[in-house]
Amino acid sequence: MIPFVDINAQYLIIKDEIDSAISACISSGNFIRGSAVTDFEKAFATYIGTDHCVSCGNGTDALEIILRSLDIGSGDEVIVPALSWIATAEAVNNVGAEPVFVDIEEKCYTIDVTRIEEKITSKTKAIIPVHLYGCPVDMDEILRISKKHSLFIIEDCAQAHGAMYKGKKVGTFGTASAFSFFPTKNLGAFGDAGAIVTDSSEIADKARMISNHGQMNTRHKHNIIGRNSRLDTLQAEVLKVKLNYLDTWNQNRIIAAAKYKERLSNCKEIILPEIPQGRTHVYHLFVIRTKRREDIIYEFRKRNIAFSIHYPTPLPFLDAYKYKQQTPDNFPVSARVTEEIISLPFYPEITDNYIDIVCDTILGIFNR
Ligand SMILES: *Cc1c(COP(=O)(O)O)cnc(C)c1O
Repeated sequence: MIPFVDINAQYLIIKDEIDSAISACISSGNFIRGSAVTDFEKAFATYIGTDHCVSCGNGTDALEIILRSLDIGSGDEVIVPALSWIATAEAVNNVGAEPVFVDIEEKCYTIDVTRIEEKITSKTKAIIPVHLYGCPVDMDEILRISKKHSLFIIEDCAQAHGAMYKGKKVGTFGTASAFSFFPTKNLGAFGDAGAIVTDSSEIADKARMISNHGQMNTRHKHNIIGRNSRLDTLQAEVLKVKLNYLDTWNQNRIIAAAKYKERLSNCKEIILPEIPQGRTHVYHLFVIRTKRREDIIYEFRKRNIAFSIHYPTPLPFLDAYKYKQQTPDNFPVSARVTEEIISLPFYPEITDNYIDIVCDTILGIFNR
């Protein structure tokens, strides 16, 4: 059986470090806030290259807290790609604003920057570019559009820790940016976790207050109505250790992706991930596209090769967004692409042998 991801393989590499950090945390009896959390925030801000990092409960909360920090709410619209994890759009609804979907482009499956401006209205407050699968969005265009129309940029970096656009890490372009540390993400905790990064001390302060019951630094002084969305101290301990390995793991993802590409490149019926100039893709997922997806799925099932589809349904066509009454003609690329994409087994520690088995299985279908 070839797994889709193998979190345990990564744990075994750093078991001693992780185990001692966790047991020290348990012995200390401090599970909420504390130095592990502030240490991780500092280290992550330094890693990304922003002035501030505010940790929180998960990536969805990070998006929601950013939206609230920017006073985006009822009556406002936010531009969101039609293909993403639902959290990107859900966060917009959950602050009372309305997500406005834009179709994706064919190469990277990220938001089609040429289709954004036609969706901007007087109610539009922000754009949420999603660096889907770890591939950076065309940030020059996003910056140009946001400047021209005075919009905030909220980068959804949940799949792109360490990805770079023209030599700068994603997460540094937005007004504020959201990261998820869901266990399978490029940087993953042992449970839910997330963070906000920004250069604005004003946004960072507001995000910190919102995530901790409206308090700033003084206990029992609640400045605004906030909520509870904190990074557990235990998760901060795990993330602190793992952050030191993120670049190596991303490099291993890039190497594994190159192996897949080399083996599959001669097959004309498969579209491989294509990276535009000036972008460093960190391959949260390795997604290929083919009209014969059903045949691949059939063979994978037969041979116990795990796979996934990210995502089978574009956001506008989910039941949750039925109220928008969108049809495939409104999002033709998303509609077509989601019929053809398949995510192959992929993680930094994946062996050459596994990659060979997966590729032999795929190529066997086309060579028949
Ligand atoms: C994982 C993910 C999120 C949400 O993160 P959680 O930590 O699971 O809440 C948001 N956006 C994208 C694109 C994601 O992949």
